Amino acid sequence: MNSIKDQLQVLKDSLPEACTLVAVSKTKPVEDILQAYDSGHRNFGENKVQELVSKVEHLPHDIKWHMIGHLQRNKVKYIAPFVHLIHGVDTFKLLREINKQGLKVNRTIHCLLQVHIASEETKFGFSEEEVKSIVADRELDSLTNVKLVGLMGMATNTSDETKVSGEFRKLRELYEWVQNKATHSNVAFDTLSMGMSGDYKLAIKEGSNMVRIGSSIFGYRN
Ligand SMILES: *Cc1c(COP(=O)(O)O)cnc(C)c1O
Repeated sequence: MNSIKDQLQVLKDSLPEACTLVAVSKTKPVEDILQAYDSGHRNFGENKVQELVSKVEHLPHDIKWHMIGHLQRNKVKYIAPFVHLIHGVDTFKLLREINKQGLKVNRTIHCLLQVHIASEETKFGFSEEEVKSIVADRELDSLTNVKLVGLMGMATNTSDETKVSGEFRKLRELYEWVQNKATHSNVAFDTLSMGMSGDYKLAIKEGSNMVRIGSSIFGYRN
């Protein structure tokens, strides 16, 4: 297997300029993250609060940390002081809690609404209709310490590329709908987070501008 640095470079060369690469370092040691960091990489993603918080202590402070996993309300307070972007907002209650914790640490926390685009039952996320009603909800005006900056979705885990592309396309269409229709001051969509190691090429073809890639950089996880 090539070094982490080599893998990162190969990936970066294959991504469009405007696409942000989030290196998903979950389960991987701090040393692996430092290898990527030393080659100039700054955006990293983790899916568990406890793991994220313990890694942050051992790593440079200019890393942009992305919380990509399911986030429980009672854990928001641990990441509110430093998190760069929360990808998995999947309830309005969670958004209220993020706002509350953002207020306490005097930060405006950037969030993506997670949308359920896959046909699998187990994945979290809003429906298309729910997203449309959230971005029109007047209560958003009172949530001064959150900013909704886009959408995140995971496609069905299948080799059927037509299906995967179709799911990504629907997410992009919803993203564009919000960009054109939303009028809240704290809704400013510029981030479409879709694509992982197995499907990022399809995601980019469908308009992704943020990919979350783990195993293709750091190797397989146990
Ligand atoms: C683990 C994970 C990824 C990265 O998956 P790979 O297949 O290793 O690239 C991306 N997004 C989320 C939400 C994840 O949990």
